[in-house]
Amino acid sequence: MREIQCRLLVIGAGPGGYVCAIRAGQLGVDTVVVDAEPPGGTCLNVGCIPSKALIHAAEEFHRFEQLSSTPSMGISAGPARLDLGATMAWKNGIVERLTGGVATLLRKARVRLVTGRANIRDGKTVLVETPEGPVQIRTEVLVIATGSEPIELPALPFGGKVISSTDALALTEVPGRLAVVGGGYIGLELGIAYAKLGAEVTVVEAAPRILPQYDAELTRPVAQRLTQLGIRLLTGARAGGLSDSGALRVAGVDGAEDIQADKVLVTVGRRPRATASGVAGLRLEMAGPFIRIDERCRTSMTGVLAIGDVTGEPMLAHRAMAQGEMVAELVAGQRRAWDKRAIPAVCFTDPEIVSVGISPEEAAAEGREVVTGLFPFAANGRAMTAGDEAGFVRVTARPDTHEVLGIQAVGAGVAEMAGGFALALEMGARLEDIAGTIHAHPTRGEALHEACLRALGHALHI
Ligand code: FAD
Ligand code: NAD
Repeated sequence: MREIQCRLLVIGAGPGGYVCAIRAGQLGVDTVVVDAEPPGGTCLNVGCIPSKALIHAAEEFHRFEQLSSTPSMGISAGPARLDLGATMAWKNGIVERLTGGVATLLRKARVRLVTGRANIRDGKTVLVETPEGPVQIRTEVLVIATGSEPIELPALPFGGKVISSTDALALTEVPGRLAVVGGGYIGLELGIAYAKLGAEVTVVEAAPRILPQYDAELTRPVAQRLTQLGIRLLTGARAGGLSDSGALRVAGVDGAEDIQADKVLVTVGRRPRATASGVAGLRLEMAGPFIRIDERCRTSMTGVLAIGDVTGEPMLAHRAMAQGEMVAELVAGQRRAWDKRAIPAVCFTDPEIVSVGISPEEAAAEGREVVTGLFPFAANGRAMTAGDEAGFVRVTARPDTHEVLGIQAVGAGVAEMAGGFALALEMGARLEDIAGTIHAHPTRGEALHEACLRALGHALHI
């Protein structure tokens, strides 16, 4: 059997694992990364990137379709036509460019990429089944970055018309009727995209409202948009199995109902791959279904670290990347610890949602006194000129020092504001810092400036 020795072995080349490996390579650490799939993980192959490509294509199609029936801004268009197979091919091209790019970056950083399924023997030995036969890797430090996978409902196992997000990102025909089980991140991002592509969409959400991880004020413009798009929303409703005729059985607040559907997309959350691949044999301390880690991503076993979705919420690509970078620097001997004040969360619905830090609702639940300022895009010149005024920017701060504790926004294109919001929190900005910063005119970003002015009691444009 072929044998490889290294200082650092990373299992999983998703955003956590590949960033960890590249940074370690840059720092001269002898690094091997193993993945059974093309590098890039869930995010690049079947997650963030393909979903955002589909969402963008759906938005473009929808815009042309609307202009063909309802001229706007003096513009009209002929009937829009869609070839979903060609859209998927375009999306696959982007995925291939990015996964190929990661492989190049790993090579440039002198990281050895081993393709195959890894099986952990002990904290220092891993066996990999590669297409060329088994390889045994001996390492000084092991990083588990095995990510997560979709949760399957026992009554709705994946297969046939019941599909996962991965299947939904590979359809070549728009389903006539799409039932979405779970009105969270994936269900709404993809449900809205398919509605724009022409599917008749019903969303079945168990909680009393969509996106229960965000506050009601923030999600209201999204709920209103669902109605405008003709998406049927059933809240407080649980999906059962399929009836004999293939309809989706739903138990709702108003009783039971069968929903006719050509495809049933199940998006009820993701579970960490925290026990498979021989991880269970290490008997690591767990935090619920996740591997327990400390502020340096160390597990309960010396020399074994864990990063990304396998370590807990929020299961987001940029958190995994930041952990991966930190772990690489630790392995290279630098003094590092997890000291982030904010992990931005973005939901690519229509309109988009951004949240950084705490909301007024969370402050109230913690019994904290805060000042808040909200500025609607209806009073923002750029939003008006873009023809989309839904949503707002909202800021939450301490009443005594005015230190900003949280910023949220909902509106068209607000995802691009997430970095600025996170920077404000990381820098410990006060309301006066943002209010005293010149924000370019006319931009949607002025809404943050005005929200801070409003929290200080002297907004100018409202
Ligand atoms: P993963 O990306 O899951 O990578 C783990 C890797 O480990 C995989 O490549 C897997 O093949 C490999 N692996 C596992 N076990 C083994 C083994 N035994 N041997 C070899 N290889 C193994 N997050 C965002 O921040 N923004 C978004 O817009 C966003 N959109 C998403 C859309 C969808 C549809 C989905 C499903 C997820 C989305 N996410 C998004 C979440 C994001 O994809 C994850 O948070 C991120 O990929 C986690 O990175 P990771 O490195 O922890 O794990
Ligand atoms: P989610 O946790 O966002 O949403 C799942 C939803 O399903 C919840 O609202 C829950 O109440 C509902 N639900 C659970 N069981 C149900 C049932 N039996 N019937 C009806 N509803 C039920 O999970 P997801 O949408 O699968 O996404 C998984 C994770 O992927 C997210 O938590 C996030 O970490 C990541 N993600 C992030 C992005 C982004 O950053 N833009 C996009 C997609 C996915």
